[in-house]
Amino acid sequence: MQDTIRRNVPLAPLTTINLGGPARFLVVCKNEEDIRRALALSHQENVPLHILGGGSNTVFADEGFQGVVAKIELKGLTFTEENETVLVSAAAGEVWDEVVQASLAKGLAGIECLSGIPGLVGATPMQNVGAYGQDVAETIEDVTTIDRRTGKSVTFTNAACTFAYRVSRFKKEDLGTYIVTNVRFRLRRDAVPTIRYPQVQAQLEKMYGTVDIGTGQEALEKVRETVLHLRRSKSMVVNPSDPHSRSCGSFFTNPIISAEKAKLVQATQSGQQGYTVKGGVKMSAAWLVEQAGFARGQRFGNVGISPNHSLALVNYGGTTKELLAVATTIQKKVKELFDITLELEPVAVLPHNSVQ
Ligand SMILES: Cc1cc2nc3c(=O)[nH]c(=O)nc-3n(C[C@H](O)[C@H](O)[C@H](O)COP(=O)(O)OP(=O)(O)OC[C@H]3O[C@@H](n4cnc5c(N)ncnc54)[C@H](O)[C@@H]3O)c2cc1C
Repeated sequence: MQDTIRRNVPLAPLTTINLGGPARFLVVCKNEEDIRRALALSHQENVPLHILGGGSNTVFADEGFQGVVAKIELKGLTFTEENETVLVSAAAGEVWDEVVQASLAKGLAGIECLSGIPGLVGATPMQNVGAYGQDVAETIEDVTTIDRRTGKSVTFTNAACTFAYRVSRFKKEDLGTYIVTNVRFRLRRDAVPTIRYPQVQAQLEKMYGTVDIGTGQEALEKVRETVLHLRRSKSMVVNPSDPHSRSCGSFFTNPIISAEKAKLVQATQSGQQGYTVKGGVKMSAAWLVEQAGFARGQRFGNVGISPNHSLALVNYGGTTKELLAVATTIQKKVKELFDITLELEPVAVLPHNSVQ
């Protein structure tokens, strides 16, 4: 076991935003036994345990993490045909976009709009990863986990995961309780691509001359290329040669507010964006940030707002402290102007909330 434990490991390179100090212990988990070892180590040393996937939605403190970071590297990907569908079983350490690519190559529909999202499979149920009119809640069959309290394996059906916009039980009431080891997705063999999102429709027109691209593997690949094109133009694909992609993606989720409050915002601000969803009106966080006086490309020392996306806070050589100060400034201004609380989308692993 000693060989698999590393001490004092810099965490910044393990995240896409490249921030944070060292981890006291890092355990690379290639199987469930390694995960149980990491759990045992955290008990033995009486320190917190943090689960790390691809680090694309994580900001570590400048001081680092005084506990055990379990880096999930479980591998395995299988496809099982079941009538008109295929069950795709992916271990938590599989790279999400590679699973998307492999599925599209087999002509399977259901996750094509989620092309290019960084990170690993195990994190996808946490915040019900989504983009361009699709989210994983639409296709997840079940999620297998290890219960940190007992070390036992527990599987949750889709319904039991209580998925909603950018959230699930794993990010809310069960935060810090379950470690995802495997996710199964039920994809469709009909190969009918999802083209719901106006931006995707417009870009398909531009790239292929029509939105009517039909069905089949080629049509799915067209949607993937279109989505990747859109994402690259917003620095939303991690690319070492694009400094604006040194981020966590969107730093704030779109707030869902009451219809009454939305009316108030509408009355005071022209051109506000929002649409009715379950539980209220979903406002555009990007619009709120811009209305609050923050602009794309704005720099605050060595961190800033991406010139290509008003919700992406980018590290241009700064610190976590600087980054979070900018996030707080934006949150305060939006609260002051609209009485709306912008929630952080990434997970900030800070000393005072270090039990993750
Ligand atoms: C450029 C860019 C674009 C992005 N675009 C999108 C987008 O379009 N849509 C979207 O939804 N997200 C987007 N994101 C956010 C991010 O990619 C996703 O949230 C992704 O699922 C995170 O995966 P990860 O493996 O990197 O997670 P990490 O950052 O490693 O972890 C995120 C959280 O999940 C927990 N976690 C990770 N793995 C496990 C596991 N196996 N078991 C239990 N808990 C676990 C961690 O403890 C942490 O709380 C983007 C990020 C970047 C950098």
